[in-house]
Amino acid sequence: MKQYNFWFVVGSQFLYGNEVLETVEARAKEMAEKMSRSLPFPLLYKVTAKTNKEITDIVKEANYDDTCAGIITWCHTFSPSKMWINGLANLAKPYCHFATQYNREIPNDEIDMDFMNLNQAAHGDREHGFIAARLRMPRKVIAGFWADKEPLKRIGDWMKAAVGVAVSKDLKVMRFGDNMREVAVTEGDKVEVQTKLGWQVNTWAVGDLVKEMNAVTEAEIDALVKEYLSEYDVNTPNMEAIRYQAREEIAMQKMMDREGCLAFSNTFQDLYGMEQLPGLASQHLMAKGYGYGGEGDWKVSAMTAIMKAMGEGGNGASAFMEDYTYHLEAGREYSLGAHMLEVCPSLAGDKPRIETHHLGIGMNEKDPARLVFEGKEGPAIVVSLVDMGGRLRLIVQDIECVKPIMPMPNLPVARVMWRAMPDLTTGVECWITAGGAHHTVLSYDVSAEQMKDWARMMDIEFVHITKDTTVDGLEKELFLNDLAWKLK
Ligand code: MN
Repeated sequence: MKQYNFWFVVGSQFLYGNEVLETVEARAKEMAEKMSRSLPFPLLYKVTAKTNKEITDIVKEANYDDTCAGIITWCHTFSPSKMWINGLANLAKPYCHFATQYNREIPNDEIDMDFMNLNQAAHGDREHGFIAARLRMPRKVIAGFWADKEPLKRIGDWMKAAVGVAVSKDLKVMRFGDNMREVAVTEGDKVEVQTKLGWQVNTWAVGDLVKEMNAVTEAEIDALVKEYLSEYDVNTPNMEAIRYQAREEIAMQKMMDREGCLAFSNTFQDLYGMEQLPGLASQHLMAKGYGYGGEGDWKVSAMTAIMKAMGEGGNGASAFMEDYTYHLEAGREYSLGAHMLEVCPSLAGDKPRIETHHLGIGMNEKDPARLVFEGKEGPAIVVSLVDMGGRLRLIVQDIECVKPIMPMPNLPVARVMWRAMPDLTTGVECWITAGGAHHTVLSYDVSAEQMKDWARMMDIEFVHITKDTTVDGLEKELFLNDLAWKLK
C-alpha cells in the first residue's frame, strides 16, 4: 500500500501582525507533530494561510500529490472565509475541519485582549464552518482538545475512511467470468461506478487463468503449501487438492499483480479447464488484502478490498460474507453467514483448518480444499452496495457476532453467527426494504461512522440500520432519499 499522509492547513490573516503569525505557525507545527504520534497516518503541517492565493495554491498541490489522502483545517485565529472560496471550490481531496484550540483552559490571571486576539478558534472555526456549509462541501467536523484521546481517535478513524477514498479511486477489479446467470443485485453500471467511485472493472478470460495455472512450477507450489501449513491445521489426507489450490492462488495473484488489481471475482458457472472452484486459494488471497466476490459480484469484491485497506494496518478484519440461514428459536434468534467456500480467515475466532469436501454446485471435477473455522465474537457491521439505477446506495447494518451456538459438525465451510440490529426480524424487514443484497462485507474493524464518512466523500446515498431503526422510520427516510437524490 502507498504511504499516505494528511496535510494540516491552518487559517489566519495579516490583521494581528507578524508576532502572532509566528506563534500560530510554531504552535501548529508542534500540534501536527504531537498529534501524528497518536494517529494512524502522519499529519504534516503545511501552511498558515493568510491569502486567497496561499489557500488556492495549497489545494492545487494537495489535489496533485498522490500521497496526500486529505486535508485537515483549523483556524487558530479568525480567517475571513471569502478567501477560502476559490481554494475549497477546487478541493478534490477529503476534507476534515478540526475545531480545536491550542490551550486547554482559560488562564485566569493571564487573559487579556492580546490573549483574546491570538486564541480565537471559537469564532475563527465558526467563520470557517460557514463557508464550507455555504459551498455544500462534503466534510467531517470534529471538535475537541487536540491532545485528548477521543478527538484523536475520531480523526484517526476519519483518516482511515479517507484512505478508503484514495484506494477506491485507484482500484482495479479483475473479473474471471461474468455475473451469475439471472442474478439482479450483483449487477451494476460499471461506467457509473467508475465515474463515481473510480473503480476500473474489467474481465479476463478463464482460459488465460488456466494457461497461467499450467505455467506455475512445482517449486512455487511447494513454497506456498509450506506457508499454508505454517498458518493452518490440515484436516484432510488430500494434499493434491491443497496443491491445486496453491496453483490457482499463484496464478490469480500473478495476473492481478501484473495488472495492478486489488480485487477479483469469479463464478462457479465458468470454471472451464479448472478442476476446482478456488476456495483456499481465494481465502488466502483475501487474508493478504485482496478483495473477493463470488458469483461474479465485483461490487462486493471491490468493497471488500476498500474496507480491508481502511482497517488496522491497511488489512483489517473485513470479509466477503453471505446471509445463508436463520435460527428462529424465540429469544435466541440468529443469522448464520457463510459461503460455498470463500470466507476470509481474518474473521476466524479459532485456528482455521484445511479440509476437502464434495461441492455439488458448479462444475467441480474434484473436491475443493477450503478453510473451515468459526467467526469470532464481537460487535461488527455488514455492508452492501446496491445500484438503484441512477445512483448507488450503501447500506450498513450493526450486528453482534456470537460464538456459533451449535457445532454443526457436518457443515463443511467457515461460518459466522450474529444478531442483527435492532432484532432479527425487524432487521431483516429493514434490510429487505432498503434492497440490501445477500452478499455483504462483514467487518469487525471498520465502523458504521467510517462507512458514512466514506459514502459522503464518494457522494453516494448512505443508509444505516441501527438498534434504534424502525421499519416506519426507514421507509420515510428511503422515500425522502429517493426525492433528494433525484434533485441532486
Ligand atoms: Mn454467493
